[in-house]
Amino acid sequence: MEYSLTFEETQVVQSTARFALNDILPLQKQLDSTGIMPDGLKQKFLELGILRLPFPEQYGGLDATFTAMMLAVRELGYASPVPPNGILENFVLAWPILNFGSAAMKERYLPGLIAMETVGGLAFTEPDTGSDPRQLITIAKKTDGGWILNGTKRFITYSGICDYLILFAKTEQNQVAAFLVESARPGYKVGRRESFVHMALDNGDIYLEDYFAPDEHLIGTVEQGFEVLLKSESLGKIGFCAIFIGAAKRALDLAISYANTKMHRDKPIGIKFPMIQEKIARMATQIEAMDSYLLKVCAKADKGGDIFWEAAVLKLMTAEGMRTVATDAMEIHGAYGLSQEYEVGRFYAMAAAVPVVMGSMDIQRVITGRTLLAKGKYSD
Ligand SMILES: Cc1cc2nc3c(=O)[nH]c(=O)nc-3n(C[C@H](O)[C@H](O)[C@H](O)COP(=O)(O)OP(=O)(O)OC[C@H]3O[C@@H](n4cnc5c(N)ncnc54)[C@H](O)[C@@H]3O)c2cc1C
Repeated sequence: MEYSLTFEETQVVQSTARFALNDILPLQKQLDSTGIMPDGLKQKFLELGILRLPFPEQYGGLDATFTAMMLAVRELGYASPVPPNGILENFVLAWPILNFGSAAMKERYLPGLIAMETVGGLAFTEPDTGSDPRQLITIAKKTDGGWILNGTKRFITYSGICDYLILFAKTEQNQVAAFLVESARPGYKVGRRESFVHMALDNGDIYLEDYFAPDEHLIGTVEQGFEVLLKSESLGKIGFCAIFIGAAKRALDLAISYANTKMHRDKPIGIKFPMIQEKIARMATQIEAMDSYLLKVCAKADKGGDIFWEAAVLKLMTAEGMRTVATDAMEIHGAYGLSQEYEVGRFYAMAAAVPVVMGSMDIQRVITGRTLLAKGKYSD
C-alpha cells in the first residue's frame, strides 16, 4: 500500500512541528501539571485548525485527510499530550456525528466542535467495565419523544468541563445505543475527579439521574450503536497512539543529546559505550516501526477501509514500543533520569498510560488473535 505524504500533509507536519517546538515545548511542564493551555497559547493553537483537517468544508472543515490530522497530533505529542488530547476528545464525538448523525445534528454540533469552541468527549467506561459492552449497566429506557438515562460512567475525560459527550448505554432490549449527551441538561452530574501520574486531566465520574435525551440525540439507530462504538474507539485509539509516538521521538532526541554530551574520561558516553549505542538503535527501531505502521493505518482509514484490527495492532505496538523507549531513555540518563529537573522521566509515566487508555492490552490481543483465527490466515 502506498502511503507517501501529500504536499498538504507535509506542510501540516512542518507547521505543527514548528508550533510544538517553539510554543508548546517551553511550556511543557506547566501544561502537563495543570492540563490547561494559557490563553495566548490556546489562541495560536486554535488558529492551526488541526481538527478542521478531516472534516467537510460545509461544517467549517478543510476537506483534508485523517492522515494529516494524525500527523499533526503526533507532532504536538512530541512536546506535550495536553493540546492533542483536546483535539482527540472533540474528534471522537464529531466523527460519529458526521458519519451517523442526522442532518440537523450535524448542522447544530459540528461547526462548534470542529472549531474547538465547544468541548466534547466519549463516555463508555463504568465502575464495572471499560472493556466489555455486554457488561454495561447504564440503562436507556424509551419514553415519549426520547430516552431516560440512568447510570454511572467512570474515568471520563473532560466530564467536568465538556459541553457534550457521546455516551453509550444499554437499551431494555440489551442493545448498545449511542447518545449525544449535553452536560447542561438536568440529570447530568459529575462526581469524584481522578488524578493521573502521566498528566493533569479533567477526568472522573458522571452520574446520570433520569437524564432525558430527546429522540434526535440518538446517534445513528439503536441497531448501529455497537458499530458507532467500535469505529469511534478505533479511530480514537489511533489518535492516542499518535500522541505517544510523538512523545517517544522526544524521548529518543533527549537520549541522543545526553549520550553525545555526557562525558566519560574525555569521551561522550554515546561514543565510548556500545551498550548506549545499542539502546539508541533499539529505540530508533521501535519508533520507525510504530511511525510507519501509523501511516499505513491512517492511509487505510482515508480510503474508507475498516481499521478495527489495525488499530488494535497499532496500540499493542505502541504500548510495547513506548515502554522500551521510555526505559532506555531513562537508563541512558543514569540517576538524572529519575530527577524531576530532567524532562526524560515524564515518558516513563506516559508509558504506563499507553496500555490502559482506549482499551486494555488484553482486549487488543483478543481482537488481534481472534480476528486472524476467524479469517483462517494472516496474508491477504
Ligand atoms: C487517562 C485515562 C483516560 C480515560 N478516559 C476515558 C474516557 O474519556 N472515556 C471512557 O469511556 N473511558 C476512559 N478511560 C477508561 C479506559 O478506557 C479503561 O480504563 C480501559 O478501557 C480499561 O477498562 P477498565 O479499567 O474498566 O478495566 P476492566 O474492563 O475492568 O478490565 C480489567 C482487566 O481485565 C481484563 N479483561 C476484562 N474483560 C476482558 C475480556 N473480555 N477478555 C480479556 N480480558 C479482559 C482487562 O484486559 C484488564 O486487564 C480512561 C482511562 C485513563 C487511564
